[in-house]
Amino acid sequence: MEQLIKNNPNCADCEDTEICGVNMQLGIFLCEKCSLVHQKLLKMLIRSVQDIFQEEEISFLSQKGNNKINLNLMKNIMPWTVNLKQNDFPQVREWMAEAKYIHQIFAREAFRQQIVHDLTKSWYYLDEVTREITRIRGPYPRHAIKKLIDEEKFLFKDGFVWHPAFGIKWMLVEKVLEIISPKPNMSDQVLQDAFMRKLNWQSYPYPHLRGYLDIIWKNTQVRKWVVILDRQVSLFSSNMQTSNAEISIKIEDVTDLSLVQFETKISIRIDANETFLFYSVKVDEIIEWYHALSSCRYLIHNLGNDYPSLEVDNTELHICNVKNSEDYVGDKIHEGFLKKQGLKYKTSRNRWFILRTDYVFWYANKNDKNYKNFLKITSSTNVDDKDLIDPKDSKPSFHFKISNSKRNLHMWAESQSEKDLWIEKFTNAINGIKERETENTIYTW
Ligand SMILES: [Zn+2]
Repeated sequence: MEQLIKNNPNCADCEDTEICGVNMQLGIFLCEKCSLVHQKLLKMLIRSVQDIFQEEEISFLSQKGNNKINLNLMKNIMPWTVNLKQNDFPQVREWMAEAKYIHQIFAREAFRQQIVHDLTKSWYYLDEVTREITRIRGPYPRHAIKKLIDEEKFLFKDGFVWHPAFGIKWMLVEKVLEIISPKPNMSDQVLQDAFMRKLNWQSYPYPHLRGYLDIIWKNTQVRKWVVILDRQVSLFSSNMQTSNAEISIKIEDVTDLSLVQFETKISIRIDANETFLFYSVKVDEIIEWYHALSSCRYLIHNLGNDYPSLEVDNTELHICNVKNSEDYVGDKIHEGFLKKQGLKYKTSRNRWFILRTDYVFWYANKNDKNYKNFLKITSSTNVDDKDLIDPKDSKPSFHFKISNSKRNLHMWAESQSEKDLWIEKFTNAINGIKERETENTIYTW
């Protein structure tokens, strides 16, 4: 056992140096606090390292170990992911244990794209390389490109160049100049690595969150509609008013971003020109915000001016997209006018429908922010495409019905193709919920 502890000197979850317990199911070594979480929350068999172990137990443990399991379960940890070394809070420890062992969110393939092209060896295509005409030239090997730039014959810095490693994008020559025409003292490997890192960061989803949060600001408690978009965090008095922010925090101005304990809750402390505390009773909601904020800060730091502006749907700015929030209603899937039968009176009216991953809402008018009503979509929601033929002229009326245990929703489209599209979208939404239920996943950035 002594030898085993020497081989596993730090706790598998928090890197604490005092090993107290052994997880006998996974074969990993833990500190006292993490042992308790594994025992109580994960319901794993934990034994003290002081115990007497059988020979076969020792042999099992020596085949497992912390490195082995972390290599697999922590494969896709992000630089901005919370870690227990810096955030020694019971709530974060429990969140981490669930995320790591039950949902295994760090074991999955992340958003990273695999880039296999060697920038130094392959060929480049040029676009818009002459002032007069636009056409694609090439492919050229890199030394030829360098010559073209040096001679300023027909490759200009504001032209575009494409290489398989750039993905689908044509890159501005200026932006990739150091790659296509490196300085003599830079080795190809250094260049390649730097560029790959940059491409890698560019393949992450850029954070954009919208939702209500409780905030402590200037010693008062306020509830604000918070939007993370591009390079800033904006605070609004309500989600009905998202044009002029009351307060804007530039991510570049943030000097400290950390999790702290506030009363009994975990909260995010943001030090910019002022100090803000963002908190919620839901730990997973706060961690989702924390990851969005810290990834935003990290990516801006690494990408500099290449951190892009996001194209967002302005009509969605008042809708919560924080997946762990009580207010989350799902992302927009489909929208359009449909005729709908009233619930009280059996007359039909034209309504604007928005189908989201978890709900369908309807509005009196297209651009309304306040909905008339909604129906929750669940895995047992039923789609019935049976048409109700108008008895007077026996023409199809493009009717369909959505129902759950509480309510039937009768709708009429304008045409067969419109009806088919709605039915397809509703069916996809229901299947998506079924998939999520079996996957039992939690979400974070
Ligand atoms: Zn630990």
